[in-house]
Amino acid sequence: MLDDVDLLVCGAGPVGCVVAERAASVLGWKVLVIDRRPHIAGNCHDSPATNGVLVHNYGPHYFRTDDENLLRYLSRFAEFAPAKYEVRSLVRDQLYPFPINLGTLEQFFGRKLDADSAEQLLAERRVPIADPTNSEEYVLSRVGRELYEVFYLHYTRKQWGVHPRDLDPQVCGRVPVRLNRDGRYVGHKFQVMPAGGFTKLFARMLKHPKIRTLLNCDFSEVRHLIHPRRATVYCGPVDAYFDNRLGKLPYRSLKFEFVPHAVAWRQPCVQINYPNDFTYTRSVEIKHVTGQRHAETVVSYETPCAEGEPFYPIPQPASAELYARYRALAEAETARNRVYFCGRLAQYRYFNTDEVIQEALACFQTIRRSAGAPASL
Ligand code: UDP
Repeated sequence: MLDDVDLLVCGAGPVGCVVAERAASVLGWKVLVIDRRPHIAGNCHDSPATNGVLVHNYGPHYFRTDDENLLRYLSRFAEFAPAKYEVRSLVRDQLYPFPINLGTLEQFFGRKLDADSAEQLLAERRVPIADPTNSEEYVLSRVGRELYEVFYLHYTRKQWGVHPRDLDPQVCGRVPVRLNRDGRYVGHKFQVMPAGGFTKLFARMLKHPKIRTLLNCDFSEVRHLIHPRRATVYCGPVDAYFDNRLGKLPYRSLKFEFVPHAVAWRQPCVQINYPNDFTYTRSVEIKHVTGQRHAETVVSYETPCAEGEPFYPIPQPASAELYARYRALAEAETARNRVYFCGRLAQYRYFNTDEVIQEALACFQTIRRSAGAPASL
């Protein structure tokens, strides 16, 4: 029975659900999706806490995209409602708008500013580094040392367990610096959340007569028992697929504490960052953006750690080199055995949710082409 499968998908997260849905709906393939965990939706999994408030079990997923087609595709499986992603950072006992914007600079330097005077102020402070090679240089070249030290340095050390000078510039480069009063965390055209949550969205994708889902099922235990006719999509850690034969890739993990409160709201915005205090990096009251109405609330506290479920690939030169060697193995495996590696862990890349879904759609197209399915499908 396990052999009556065209496509085996290892991982019921966003990538696995999208590829499975496409293969079943477009190609009519029989798909088996397996996941090691007892639930679907991967790290996008959300569920009600003890008091019924919907929480993001593996940290906040603020869905945003500039890709209207992607949103149109996802809207087949859920309604999406606008969400306000607003973050503040606790520095010297005060909450500041974050990312740094005109309001942050005014509050921090205690004077009125406009775009020109703020540009002047930052120009006097920036460290002239034309081509930053790490996250410290990147931030110093954007905002200078004082703002770097209070808003970035210690947060980044907590988050990654390494100094910003040992991290790729793109890590802190994800966060914009604005000379206007835009208080949104990100600048994307669509900033939306699926009504009812991500787990419902992905459950709708998997609800197809050609798709079977097997939870609590570890790929390493069944990989030699299942022989899909067409292809395998693997979304787990790429090093684990190859039994860590080149050495282990580093991942950063997170621990969460969910604290219920018998009040409607506990924070002024969805996320508060703590760059300089506590061992946790941020507190998240996700109810601000899920659209749920509830008399109570839950705040989650997020503490980074080295051991545990792999969450983030660590963007450093040494890990990039090791990954390049695993990627060569993965490419050979694709050519030889039609195993496709897709997702944050399988491609060892810090993708956002919309980006990883784009990767999944691209992966499906590659599979479709190499299976010789007609383009009209
Ligand atoms: N960062 C920081 N201070 C902050 C928020 C972020 O130094 O208050 C840095 C940190 O290194 C973090 C990176 O910027 O890993 C990207 O932040 P983002 O909030 O995008 O991280 P994510 O939500 O993906 O964990």
